[in-house]
Amino acid sequence: MAHEVIDFEDARLRQHDHIVRGTAADGMIRAIACTAKETVEEAHQNHNTSPLVTAALGRLLMAGQMMGQMSKADDELITLTVRGDGPIEGLTVTANNRGQVKGFAHHAHVWLPLKEDGHLDVGAGIGHGELSVVFDRPGIAPYSSQVELVSSEIGEDLTNYFVLSDQVPSSVGVGVLVAADTSVRQAGGFIIQLMPGYTEDVVVMLENNLEGVCSVTDMLERGMTPNDMLNYLLRDLDYEELEVRSSEFYCGCNEERALRCVAALGADDIRDMVETAETAEVYCHFCGRRHYITPDVLAKVLEDNG
Ligand code: ZN
Repeated sequence: MAHEVIDFEDARLRQHDHIVRGTAADGMIRAIACTAKETVEEAHQNHNTSPLVTAALGRLLMAGQMMGQMSKADDELITLTVRGDGPIEGLTVTANNRGQVKGFAHHAHVWLPLKEDGHLDVGAGIGHGELSVVFDRPGIAPYSSQVELVSSEIGEDLTNYFVLSDQVPSSVGVGVLVAADTSVRQAGGFIIQLMPGYTEDVVVMLENNLEGVCSVTDMLERGMTPNDMLNYLLRDLDYEELEVRSSEFYCGCNEERALRCVAALGADDIRDMVETAETAEVYCHFCGRRHYITPDVLAKVLEDNG
């Protein structure tokens, strides 16, 4: 009797946030999709973001997570920065290629009226401005590029970025659905790109597939996984999943790093804090954690620095 082999590790991985990487049309298409409800909910809780900011930051966090998967170098960090003249002012997200991402908004508590279609008005929250992408590897000068924001809804802006900066025709969808209690109900996204050597047939089929496609959050609401989304978007194009990996909101800050920040202040400032028995507080913008350094520890820093 035939029976199916269940890979428990794989099944467990797909129950939580994860990123799927795949290919289609004989390698002419590369595709990435993610589900990131836990990642975006953690950002919401860490920064106490309003629903509008949860959506804006969530979209950029997922873009970072997916773009991190395009990196070939294990130690490469990618930082996406959005700056605009809207009330949120800016968003910063940093991701590695292990599915880890962290990020924050300049103003986390912005509320704006919903758009006519009932969606959160991310475009108005960000306003007109610029998207910058920086690739950073130890020992190598960072590489960066900037593009003007086109709609400030993030997905379209990334599509535009890939075309202008990398000359890669792309389609990017990122969506966050916030529940009435302000928690994250759905979050996910995809990036589909045409690789050098693509044929006109493939372009036409892909355009047909993407035309009138429902939103990412609609697909997630229907119970679709990242792999289902790519199967659907790349139907009739021989989509094949290559890799799946877990993803999360992760900030590597800790007491030791906080201590290094304080040590960098210089002996005079540290001596002042020790003399006034002041506890130093180091706030991490990326994850909202506060690290406290007591006068005893500060005294030790002074001693060590001679
Ligand atoms: Zn942190």
